[in-house]
Amino acid sequence: MSHSEKTHDIVVFETPAPYIARIVLNRDERRNAQDTHLLYALNDAFDRAARDDSVRVIILAANGPDFSSGHDLTEEKYLENWKAHPQVGTYCGFSCGGAEPIMTREKELYQGLSERWRNIPKPTIAAVQGRCIAGGLMLIWPCDLILAAETAQFRDNTLAMGISGVEYFCHPWEVGPRKAKEMLFTSDWLSAQDALRLGMVNHVVPADQLQDAALALASRIADKSPFALRLAKEAVNKCQDAQGRLTAQETAFAYHQLAHAHNMQVHGHPIDPSFMTTQFKK
Ligand code: ZN
Repeated sequence: MSHSEKTHDIVVFETPAPYIARIVLNRDERRNAQDTHLLYALNDAFDRAARDDSVRVIILAANGPDFSSGHDLTEEKYLENWKAHPQVGTYCGFSCGGAEPIMTREKELYQGLSERWRNIPKPTIAAVQGRCIAGGLMLIWPCDLILAAETAQFRDNTLAMGISGVEYFCHPWEVGPRKAKEMLFTSDWLSAQDALRLGMVNHVVPADQLQDAALALASRIADKSPFALRLAKEAVNKCQDAQGRLTAQETAFAYHQLAHAHNMQVHGHPIDPSFMTTQFKK
């Protein structure tokens, strides 16, 4: 018996089984592209699941054939929408010129939210089908476990936009340094099987079994001690932090902002506009 409740049209909060919350991206007509509104709605849903003591495990899923096409590059008023959003938490850099507004927005909305979701003190499971592109990785990489449908494909094509990788940069931890470079340099797809072999996903399952598999895995976790789960999660996360994960990510974020600023100087646009006319239409 499950019940679902629409907290926002674009993100749905469900409780499919005892102790389990399922947060579903519900903008499949746009392949779950992430605009300002969707990201804050998703953060609201994660906060709700985190605060509710009856929730022990959180599943992140997506409606439609594709998990996420990444950031919504067609959101024209992305700075204005962000400044006007009631949940905005960063109170500087709104009206400055130069590189500051974009950096401030991306620090909060991209790197900031992904880091916040990584540190939710409950196990999180991403269930991924179809394509998961660039910003889409910033939704699944912060999760503790990832289940991939056989149809899943992963890609960071920001190099094709004249950028050095997505804002929440953890490719070397997810696929290893060698593959991270190939993934970035070529902008090529990573198949579900490749992601499994590299350790980026936990299991690959038939597409029609993805949600059941996520629920079964969540149920096996939900009967454990919530506090012990929290401590185990922290212990593994702290291993990455002891390796300098956060410092390295922040360096990569600075390079990402340098690339935006460079593109603004050279092209008058934060990403290379030739991407919009070539790759984006494909
Ligand atoms: Zn960016």
